Amino acid sequence: MGPARGAARPGRFFGVYLLYCLNPRHRGRVYVGFTVNPTRRVQQHNAGRKKGGAWRTSGRGPWEMVLIVHGFPSAVAALRFEWAWQHPQASRRLAHVGPRMRGEAAFAFHLRVLAHMLSTLPWARLPLTLRWMRPDFHCDLCPAPPPHVPLTFGPPPPPAPRRRALPSANQDAKTRCTLCARTLQDEEEPLCCPHPGCPLSAHMICLAEEFLQEEPGQLLPLEGQCPGCKNSVLWGDLIRLCGTGAEEEEEDLELEEEHWTDLLET
Ligand SMILES: [Zn+2]
Ligand SMILES: [Zn+2]
Repeated sequence: MGPARGAARPGRFFGVYLLYCLNPRHRGRVYVGFTVNPTRRVQQHNAGRKKGGAWRTSGRGPWEMVLIVHGFPSAVAALRFEWAWQHPQASRRLAHVGPRMRGEAAFAFHLRVLAHMLSTLPWARLPLTLRWMRPDFHCDLCPAPPPHVPLTFGPPPPPAPRRRALPSANQDAKTRCTLCARTLQDEEEPLCCPHPGCPLSAHMICLAEEFLQEEPGQLLPLEGQCPGCKNSVLWGDLIRLCGTGAEEEEEDLELEEEHWTDLLET
C-alpha cells in the first residue's frame, strides 16, 4: 500500500461530535458519537431511541450538537477517534491526559481530552477540522490544536456535488494528471486546488507522494506546495474539494449505532 492509497476516501463526511444536554434535569451531561450526517443525527438523538437515537440520550433531551471534529479519511478512523474520546483512560495513547478531576465538569473534561487527542499521534497527523456548531459554547482548547487544523463555526457545509463540471478552457489539461501526465480516469476524483485559477488536477496518490517527499515515512501528508500555483495548500482542503460519494452513505449509517464502538480498540 503506497502513500495515501486507501487512506482517504475523498469528500466523504465522517465526524465525531459532542452533544450537550440542555434538559434542566440532566443539564451538563455530554455524549460523544460518530456521524456521517450531523443534522440528521442530532434530530435522531432528540427524537429518542425509537427514531434511531442512542439509549443513553433517549428521553433526556433536548441535546445540542456543540462541536464536531471532521475530515477523517475513513469511517474506521473516525470510529477509533470516537472510541478513544469516550474511553480516554483505556487508550494507551492518552495515558498522559489523566482522569477527570474533582470539580471538573463533564464538558470541560471532554474538551481537555479532545485538546490532547488533536495534539497526539495518530490524530495529530489527520486533516481534521474543529467546528463549533454552537459558537456560543466556544472556548479555546488547551493545548491548542496543531496549525493545520482549521477552527470553524456553524453547521458543516453541504456535501459537494458528486461530479463537478470541468472548466471548458483546457479540457485535455484537466483530464490529465499535472504530476504524472497520465489520464485521469472517470471513476477517479482528481484533486483540485482551492486557489482560484490554479490548473492543478492530479491523482491523489501522485500529489501525496509529492508532498511526502518532505516527510519520508509518513503515510498521509498535512500540507505542501501546490505544483500548479506554488501556493501552500492543506491536504485537508484538497480532500474537501473532491466530489462526495453520497451513494455510499447508507452503509455508513449502520456505523452510527453506538454498539459498534465497543468493537474498536485504538
Ligand atoms: Zn498522476
Ligand atoms: Zn494550486
